[in-house]
Parts: sequence; C-alpha cells; structure tokens
Amino acid sequence: MIDVHGLSKSFKGQQVLKGIDLKVAAGEVIAIIGPSGSGKTTLLRCLNLLEVPDGGSIRVGSIQIDANRPLHRQKERIRTLRQHVGFVFQNFNLFPHRTALENIMEGPLVVKKEPRSSVLERARQLLAKVGLAGKEDAYPRSLSGGQQQRVAIARALAMQPDVILFDEPTSALDPELVGEVLATIRDLAAEKRTMVIVTHEMNFARDVANRVIFIDQGVIVEQGEAKALFASPQHARTRQFLHKFL
Ligand code: ADP
Repeated sequence: MIDVHGLSKSFKGQQVLKGIDLKVAAGEVIAIIGPSGSGKTTLLRCLNLLEVPDGGSIRVGSIQIDANRPLHRQKERIRTLRQHVGFVFQNFNLFPHRTALENIMEGPLVVKKEPRSSVLERARQLLAKVGLAGKEDAYPRSLSGGQQQRVAIARALAMQPDVILFDEPTSALDPELVGEVLATIRDLAAEKRTMVIVTHEMNFARDVANRVIFIDQGVIVEQGEAKALFASPQHARTRQFLHKFL
C-alpha cells in the first residue's frame, strides 16, 4: 500500500530525515515511536506531502511522487494522493464555524464533489460509528477534546481513504479522554484498515500495532513485530528509550 524509498528532509540545514525506507502492507497497523524531535511527525507529514521532502520517493497504491522531480509538475498526482490518504492531527484541526456533521461532509462535497444526499447519510453513519450520534449539530467548541478528535477521525473516514495517518492523536487530550480516542482507533484496526500512527502511548502501540518502528535522529533504528520489539528490543538506543516507559 505504501512504499517509501530514501526519504530525506532538512529544515534550515538540519537534516531531520536521513533516507527513510518504509513499506506498509494493506491492512497493516504501524506505530511509529521515538524520542521527541527524532523526525516522527515530519515523516508522517511527508507521506501525504504536507511537508515537502528533499529527496526520495513515496508511493501510495498506484500513485508515485518523486521528490527529485519538480513537484509543481506532480501537482495533480499530489492532489490525488491526498484524497487517498487521511490525516488526523494532534490538535484535531476541525473547522470551528462548522458543525460536527458539516466538518465530516466538507471533504466529500468540496474535494470529491460527491452528491449531497449520499454524503449526508455517510456522515451520519460515521458520527454514530465514533460514538457521537446526536452530536450532528454541535460546534467543535461545545465538544470535549476527545469528542473533537473522534469527529476528526470520522472526517478522515468520510473521504474513504486507503490509508489513515495519525499524528500523536491523543497527546493534546486530558488523560481521562485518551481512552475513548484510542478505543475508536482500536475499532478501526479490528476492521483491518491500513494505518500509520505516531504515538507516545506505548501500551496502545504494543497491543494494537502489527509492527512498531523506532526512529531516532532521523533514521529507523529498529522495527519489528510489536510484541517482540517491546519484549526484546535489539538495539541499545531502543532499549534506552523503552526503559523510560516500562
Ligand atoms: P518528532 O515528531 O519526532 O517529535 P519532528 O518531526 O516534529 O519530531 O521534528 C524533528 C526536528 O525537525 C525537530 O528538531 C524540529 O524542531 C524540526 N522541525 C520540525 N518541523 C520544522 C519546521 N517546520 N521548521 C523548522 N524545523 C522543524
């Protein structure tokens, strides 16, 4: 489903991603873990071109973006790729002046130009799926952080993406609201949706991800089957990092 090759990215001369290779199969759930500042969010944002990589290539399904070719010549392809890749932000990023339902309907209506009646029906179903039936007309400010993040997940699902990327989806939440969002993501994993999740929730990563990738200083230091990686990390840096959580 995803094939990333030699991905690199620098900010003001500081190389943040140093040649990342990554493959994700359809139906796989990947957790990306690592110290703060190691490049996890940058990698995730590069996957749907929210951040422009300096080098390497990204393929999602049949859409290939080559960072070594001028990106303005690949604009149409980038647009298509984004329609196939959902993104859930740390801070939800809902439209504040639109209701929950309107937030969910926006992408299918405006970007995909789907007919309103079918979009409305799907949006209602998705809101119920994330446990928020009855909140159709609620504005984001009247919802808790956990509810807002679940609306954001429904909004991502509304585009019927092939892959959903989650950027620390619970780190802006009060501790008592983390569980409801993780439960929603867990349900999606049970449906075998392809997901890549940057997270600091180590128990969640171990239980829900098929594969865990440990990144440090812009390189993939270690990756492996989730339970095996947590039980017996192979690299000293991975051990040192996980030690803090165990
Ligand atoms: P992580 O998600 O692992 O905490 P990030 O990908 O957010 O790491 O950041 C990696 C490094 O890149 C950090 O040193 C950060 O300061 C830097 N960085 C991230 N985004 C930008 C940006 N837009 N401009 C300048 N530096 C950035």
